Amino acid sequence: MPSPRDDCIFCGIVRDGSYVHEANGFVAIDDINPRAPVHVLVLPERHVDSFREIGRFDANETKRMLEFVAETAQKVGLTDYRVLVNVGPGGGQTVFHLHWHILGGGDSRDDVPAAVAGAEAEA
Ligand code: AMP
Ligand code: ZN
Repeated sequence: MPSPRDDCIFCGIVRDGSYVHEANGFVAIDDINPRAPVHVLVLPERHVDSFREIGRFDANETKRMLEFVAETAQKVGLTDYRVLVNVGPGGGQTVFHLHWHILGGGDSRDDVPAAVAGAEAEA
């Protein structure tokens, strides 16, 4: 298992932070700058830079990670929500420790991400 990165803010939170939910090597935290009424981040305890490296998790861990995302949403009271991963700076990633955004608590149907909106505008 890769060791925590001293320079990684999310490794620091895994070590010292308070969680919304925790199980099986994954933690969920409130986003410090929420972009929805409920905005939670799910992260693996071990450091993986981004979704590009998803292959570092074995099949069982990957299943547990996705189940943990669904469990966390339920735990914070969401039935309808959006799950989002930003990949790389061009994809909007600003913290380079894999994390899944769970956004909910409002109506997201008209909340089209900028990149998608841009693609639609060009089509
Ligand atoms: P991304 O831009 O996809 O890498 O998402 C990083 C997210 O981490 C942003 O939504 C930030 O608001 C959030 N964030 C940054 N620092 C912290 C922190 N110390 N605690 C909780 N969330 C944070
Ligand atoms: Zn980290």
